[in-house]
Formats: sequence, C-alpha cells, structure tokens
Amino acid sequence: MTNHLFSLVRDGAADPTRTVIETHEGRHHSYADLLARSGAYAAALVAAGVAPGDRVAVQVEKSAEVIFLYLGVVRAGAMFLPLNTAYTPAEIGYFLGDAEPALFVCDPAKREALAGAAAGVRQVWTLDAAGTGSAAEAADAQDGAAFADVPRAPEDLAAILYTSGTTGRSKGAMLTHDNLASNAKVMVEVWRFTADDVLIHALPVFHTHGLFVATNTVLASGGTMLFLPRLDSKKILELMPRATAMMGVPTFYTRLLKEPGLTREVSRSIRLFTSGSAPLLAETHREWQARTGHAILERYGMTETNMSTSNPYDGDRVAGTVGFPLPGVSLRVVDPESGVALGPDEVGMIEVKGANVFKGYWRMPEKTAAEFKPDGFFITGDLGKVDSRGYVHIVGRGKDLIISGGFNVYPKEVETEIDALPGIVESAVIGLPHPDFGEAVTAVVVGGEGAPDEAAVTADLEGRLAKFKCPKRVLFVDELPRNTMGKVQKNILREQFAGLFGG
Ligand code: ATP
Ligand code: MG
Repeated sequence: MTNHLFSLVRDGAADPTRTVIETHEGRHHSYADLLARSGAYAAALVAAGVAPGDRVAVQVEKSAEVIFLYLGVVRAGAMFLPLNTAYTPAEIGYFLGDAEPALFVCDPAKREALAGAAAGVRQVWTLDAAGTGSAAEAADAQDGAAFADVPRAPEDLAAILYTSGTTGRSKGAMLTHDNLASNAKVMVEVWRFTADDVLIHALPVFHTHGLFVATNTVLASGGTMLFLPRLDSKKILELMPRATAMMGVPTFYTRLLKEPGLTREVSRSIRLFTSGSAPLLAETHREWQARTGHAILERYGMTETNMSTSNPYDGDRVAGTVGFPLPGVSLRVVDPESGVALGPDEVGMIEVKGANVFKGYWRMPEKTAAEFKPDGFFITGDLGKVDSRGYVHIVGRGKDLIISGGFNVYPKEVETEIDALPGIVESAVIGLPHPDFGEAVTAVVVGGEGAPDEAAVTADLEGRLAKFKCPKRVLFVDELPRNTMGKVQKNILREQFAGLFGG
C-alpha cells in the first residue's frame, strides 16, 4: 500500500534539480526541496500527534511553504483542510467548529485575532508568506529525507475542501487520494503537461482550481509554477514570455484584455490558456483570440467533482461551452422532476459520475444521500445541455433558475442578450419575489460609456425574447458583487433588491 496522492508527486519529480515553484520574489524551490521539506512537515505533524483521519486546518497566505505543508499533511496520512484567507475570525470559528481539526495553522499576524475562534483546537501553529512561524520551526527540527510516508489506501480521505459559498453556506467536500490523484493524471494527459511546462499560477491555493487543478497537474508532471500571490495583470504580462501555460478564472482574461501590453508577441511561448470556476463570456473568448491568437480552453468543475469536462486540446474549443466529459467521467442531463435522461440540446440537471467525484459532504449524511442517485451519479446543481456534437453547455445554477408566472427562465439566456447590447459591460439576471408572478425577472446591469437606459434595454429585449423572459425591471449598478474566485454572488443581489416588487 502506498500513499497514493503523494506517490503521484514523487513519480512526477523525475528531475530533483528542476524548479517546482518560483515565487514572485524570485526564490526558486526545487523538487528536491519539495521532497525534503514536505517530509519534514510530515515528521513534525506526526511528532505533534497528528494521526490518520485527523484534519489539519490551514489559513495562511499563498507561498511555496504552504504547498510543502499541504504535501506534508498528505504524507502524514492526515487530511488537508485549507481555508479562504479572506475569512473573518467569526467565519474561521464556524469552520473550525465544523471540521474539528487536530491542528490549525494560521498567519502569525492573525494569531491573536483568531484566539477565540481557535479556542477549541488542541494545537495552533503559525506560518507566514515568507515561510516563518512555529510550523516552519517544527519542520526545521526534523530530518525530512528520513520520513517514511504513512500508507494510505486510494479510498482514504486526503482533503476536506469547503465549497465557495456562492449559493449558501459552504459545505465540506470529502476528497479521497484517488479522487485527486486520478483527476491529476487525467489533466496531465488531456492538457499534455510535461516537466518542461512553466505555469503562471496566480490563483489562490485554498480553492479547488488553484490547489487541485493547477498545482496537482504541475506536480504530477514535474513542471514549474510561477507563483503570484494574486491576480496582477502587469506581473502576469512580465512572466508570460517565460511561461508555457496559464490557468485562470474569467476575471483574469477580462483584466488582461485591458492591458495594452497584451499582444501576440508577449504570449508567443504559451501553449495553453485555460478558464474555469465561472462562465467565460463568448465575447472574452473572441477578443482574446483576436488579440493573442490563442483560443482559451474552457473547462468545468466543482469542489465536489474536481475537473469534469474540458474543451479539446486539439480540435475546436467552442466558446460558450465547457467541452466534453473527461476520460473516466460519465455525464448526463436529466429532467430534474422525473429524472428521465434528456436528449441533445434539451436543458436539464447535470449529473456526474466517476473516480473524480467526492465521497460526500463532511458531517452532512442527509445532504450527501439526497445529492447522489442510487446508480452513483452526483447531482451537480448546475443546469445545462449537451449539444449534437457532444459539447456540454452550462446554462446556470439550478438555484438561479427563475420561475415567473409558471414559466422557466434561464438567466443566462437573458444575460447573453443584454451583454450583447452596445455599451453594456455585464449583467446578472435574477428572480425577485413578486405578488403576481411568484418571481419577477430582474436585470442588474453594469453600463459603460454610451450604455442604453432602462427603457431602451427593455424595448430592445422585447423584440428578441418571449415576453415572460423580459426583465420587469432593469437596475443599473457600478459593479456586480463577486467572491474571491470571481463568481457573481446572485444571493447578495437577491437580498439587496428583495423588496423591489413588494413581494
Ligand atoms: P457553493 O457550492 O458553496 O454555493 P460554488 O458552487 O461556487 O459554491 P465551487 O465548487 O467553487 O463552489 O464552484 C463550482 C461551481 O462553479 C459549479 O457548480 C458551476 O456552477 C460553476 N462553474 C465552474 N466552472 C464553470 C464554467 N466553466 N462555466 C460555468 N460555471 C462554472
Ligand atoms: Mg457548489
């Protein structure tokens, strides 16, 4: 029996002299450092009494050291449980209460503020972005090279990752060694990652995209990551000529498109740009291709399912779609009420099954039971369709579906029409309580220069959409509320405008 997830990393690290992480300060960490340092963290954790089945909760700024700590936790046989660095002490208190970790690692600067939140946790260590703190000291005292990995079976849990909390309170997704390792292998294969790849990594490492999609893929292929603490368009442009790939959320691409320095030349060495975590506008896809010559590869995943679909590496990357199910992933679209499988182009609930799919929600057995079908398919909560060529389209979240006067309205269809109007930057279409319609279709719009007003938007849409789909009101705002992953928080908009129709 091996330590499944870490075996993949060990096998990937074929050349120990190669750089695994280069930080924004220009520090290079090699695969040899990764092997030794993760071993030292693992030994320190075992010495501190962390045992298989324990959770190690971590809220620290992005650094090479936190990646070594992550791998140390996995090698010690425990579960890595990263927490969003933006969470407040009160939120951290909730997550620590839910997760009951054996150990909590936090930023030394936040140690005092988190004292109350962490009061019930047996041990608290610290680690800052520069790699100093009591966690690093505990590792310093160990001989990493001598550490023998705690064996773990493929079905054992390697991590608990909380969902982004876009639709409500975050849930802990239990992920096994096999979920993560098999998904990493598939990503290496479909995206052709090798030890020669250099990935621009500006995503957070507490989320599935930055940690499991980006980091695990590079680790499993023995390549290099250029770490930036956050999205910084100018720094990304500086790094581009040295890189071969970048993984981002749609905001990365819209921000970079505002930079005059984004050209074909600057992106010449890049072989792959990917986008996920939120829908990429077809317009962004087109503009990016016109400016750089690259077709962004959009893919779809979630905390619970890891990466599920991808546009093809070779072949048509179709804007507005998330491509095909990955090898080993079964995906179907069903009628949410009857559960009957739907045909091409019919919109319904997306369900997914495969080695990529998580074990269930942490301490939520009823919710877990309710979200899995008897034949093992997981109900994603996302609405979508598969077109006649097999491309998967995400139409939106089930929770965002608007039922107005008994008719289903898919917000994305209306948003696409509004976004196409000259002068409109973006829009979010939501349903608000309405005394007659149940829910009233409402558009919240960010207008740029020369944007049409409410009456003009309404008049235009009435010519193109069935009446029941047309917004009853069009509200202009300066910007849409977004979370750290760039996802529009429609629940905030729904709360903000709840009383608009007196419903
Ligand atoms: P919560 O489940 O807590 O409400 P969340 O669903 O945003 O939060 P994540 O697991 O980070 O948490 O996000 C997964 C969701 O992101 C998917 O279910 C889907 O709605 C959306 N998503 C991911 N990739 C894409 C994509 N390429 N296009 C459209 N939506 C996407
Ligand atoms: Mg979700």
